[in-house]
Amino acid sequence: MLKEISRRRFLGTGSAALAGTAIGAFGFDGVEDALAASIRPFKLAQTSETRNTCPYCSVGCGIIMYSKGADKAAGKLGTISFIDGDPDHPTNKGTLCPKGSGLLDFVNAETRTKYPMVRKPGSDKWERVTWDYALDRIARLMKDDRDANFIAKNQDGTTVNRWLSTGFLAASATTNETAWMTYKVVRSTGMLVFDNQARV
Ligand code: SF4
Repeated sequence: MLKEISRRRFLGTGSAALAGTAIGAFGFDGVEDALAASIRPFKLAQTSETRNTCPYCSVGCGIIMYSKGADKAAGKLGTISFIDGDPDHPTNKGTLCPKGSGLLDFVNAETRTKYPMVRKPGSDKWERVTWDYALDRIARLMKDDRDANFIAKNQDGTTVNRWLSTGFLAASATTNETAWMTYKVVRSTGMLVFDNQARV
């Protein structure tokens, strides 16, 4: 496979090798080994690549996350050490804006929410809950609110089938298929208050 190399890099690498060889010829044994030892190992060596989408805005740039230490069989998560633009992604072709370039800080932020949490009525603390609890609770509250507030007809008797007392905020970093499904499910309930992070 042909590898592209810039003129500057070619000259730099060539000069370093030539210097090492010439110095070695003058009798400074070990210089070439020292030169080789001084070159840092490639930092992404032995990392795993995971493709994803930048979560910030509706451009939806593709990213590659590099991680180490994951053990899928044991359910152990790896540590992400570097994130770069995906050169094969048709939207951004490897580029990232300043927000996307700072994604590693986002991933490692202490304030990042990683699981469902609830602040129960009267409490001043957020508590971690399971996904089963969160989904059951959301479904229960939505059903109760819709049953109480659904508007089947307007004042003129025209069928409107509206549900105005609950809203839904969807994410833009999804596939077209997921977006289509989300839209159909939300609209099928009669919900009109429906927006997307892309407008925020
Ligand atoms: S890298 Fe920048 S432009 Fe691309 S999705 Fe993220 S925030 Fe948007």
